[in-house]
Amino acid sequence: MTNSDLDVIVVGSGLGGLTAAAYLATNGRRTLVLEQHYVAGGNSHVFRRKALHGEQSFEFDVGVHYIGDCGPNGMIPTILRGVGLEGKIEFLEMDPDGFDTLMFPDFSFRVPKGWDRYRERLTAAFPDEETGLHRCLDVLQQKAPDFAQWAMRPLSELFDECRLGQKVRAVLVGESGAYAVPPSRAPVILQAGFIDHYLKGAYYPRGGGQVLPAHLVDVIRSNGGEVRMRAKTERILVKDGHACGVRLTTGEEFRAPVVISNADLKRTVLELVSAEHFSPETVARVNEYRMALPIFCVYLGLDIDLRDRLPNSNVWYYDSYDIEGMYRDCDEGRIPADLGLFITLASVKDPDTEAIAAKGYTSMEVMMWVPPDHRLWAVEDGPAAGERYHGKPEYRSFKDQVMETLVDGVERAIPGIKEHIIWKEAATPITQEKYTLSTAGTSYGIEMATDQVGPMRPSPKTEIEGLYLAGASTMFGHGIVGSMRGGVGCASAVLDRDLMSDVESGQVFGDPSKLEGGGPGWDPWEASR
Ligand SMILES: Cc1cc2nc3c(=O)[nH]c(=O)nc-3n(C[C@H](O)[C@H](O)[C@H](O)COP(=O)(O)OP(=O)(O)OC[C@H]3O[C@@H](n4cnc5c(N)ncnc54)[C@H](O)[C@@H]3O)c2cc1C
Repeated sequence: MTNSDLDVIVVGSGLGGLTAAAYLATNGRRTLVLEQHYVAGGNSHVFRRKALHGEQSFEFDVGVHYIGDCGPNGMIPTILRGVGLEGKIEFLEMDPDGFDTLMFPDFSFRVPKGWDRYRERLTAAFPDEETGLHRCLDVLQQKAPDFAQWAMRPLSELFDECRLGQKVRAVLVGESGAYAVPPSRAPVILQAGFIDHYLKGAYYPRGGGQVLPAHLVDVIRSNGGEVRMRAKTERILVKDGHACGVRLTTGEEFRAPVVISNADLKRTVLELVSAEHFSPETVARVNEYRMALPIFCVYLGLDIDLRDRLPNSNVWYYDSYDIEGMYRDCDEGRIPADLGLFITLASVKDPDTEAIAAKGYTSMEVMMWVPPDHRLWAVEDGPAAGERYHGKPEYRSFKDQVMETLVDGVERAIPGIKEHIIWKEAATPITQEKYTLSTAGTSYGIEMATDQVGPMRPSPKTEIEGLYLAGASTMFGHGIVGSMRGGVGCASAVLDRDLMSDVESGQVFGDPSKLEGGGPGWDPWEASR
């Protein structure tokens, strides 16, 4: 493909960008995806490490830990089927009797699949709260006649109206790290949509998170498109109010009448395009948007096999029931005094993929939401502005300190783990900024708070002719499902056609027989380069 015969350029290969590109390539558009990193996927990419002097390898997921609604007609399988990927990705279901285990100081709760079982288990655990719980769950399940009046109000107001105590509130928002908004700012509709997504079943893709971008890259390339790594866009070019191409940091230019940005929203508007091309109202709104809190991650390789010892469940571990307080600490720029950890084990979710961890070993990821401020992490301008931070002693020692705090938390949640650690490393919000160029090191885009949801978020079509948006900050929201659904929404806006309803009614774009991905010996990581 030469740079003069393109129909569409996509900046960024996160799942939003790749999904949009796959739908456009299969609809006959000559599509070029430009990714700054050396592997496609953005937050859905994985990385591999060797421990024990190179003898033991582990694979770690950045941002695909569990996904809801992946049964036969679930949202993500439907989106994949629409570009010819039916049956190419197998989704392994986590324990339907408790895909999430919420551990509090003196109480545990296993979240089961299905609204009815969820309701039964909650009311059995909190018999004194039964009336309030039924009322609250009716609203969250969108069965209450006044749901619409609640949708955009904060979750904490619903809890107040239902007179729920602190313990049951903590259980209801015990998985809120998946959207990182405190109950006082999280709209009811966010929790309703989030829990409904996972109550349809929680899944992990066989082969690890990288299979998602790898198969989408295959679709794009097999349909005449191109995906280029190490290609960092410096400018999105606009002429006479119309997007017309991009310039890379190398100076190379590509021209196309449609440019989709899957890059961070603020960087897209304020840096890649630049403010002078937008209305003052748009620039002001983009400046004002608050980003979601970022996540601190610890990656552990263990010389013990937890495949048959632990249920196929994530663990959400809490030092206290005051979840709002943990967010308050972050808002005030402190690492939460009480820990709230998300612990997940890829080798338990996908026991047969040796690349994740060989038999006898375990791959574990631990996460906690933290404040974004550069200075807390001993960084000034940040890596997106070119700052070299990695070797700074203050950065390294604070990162190590937070990592050890999380490891101690894991030891409290799963005693005996510490002595089995043979690989240990951490990623800060600064690491996230470096690898995805996101503002404030978040992967969730602009915060899904009451003042920033639904119509208050950008739609894929912008006020600049030919410029479109895909990714976590759009009206479709973040997460694997939000960014992929947003990718379809973006391609629909480009083609002026509702592709989602087309694929829901069974339409398949492109020719599935051309696809080469999958099968024995296929390595999704290599296929994503
Ligand atoms: C620790 C963690 C755990 C998570 N767990 C889950 C989970 O279990 N389930 C779930 O559903 N979601 C999870 N998520 C969230 C989910 O991964 C993200 O919301 C989603 O993948 C974001 O997709 P996106 O389309 O917005 O693109 P992104 O993943 O943000 O990718 C954007 C891409 O654009 C590239 N880019 C940016 N600027 C440029 C430029 N100038 N030139 C070229 N390329 C550029 C970046 O390098 C990147 O590859 C998690 C995220 C994290 C970080």
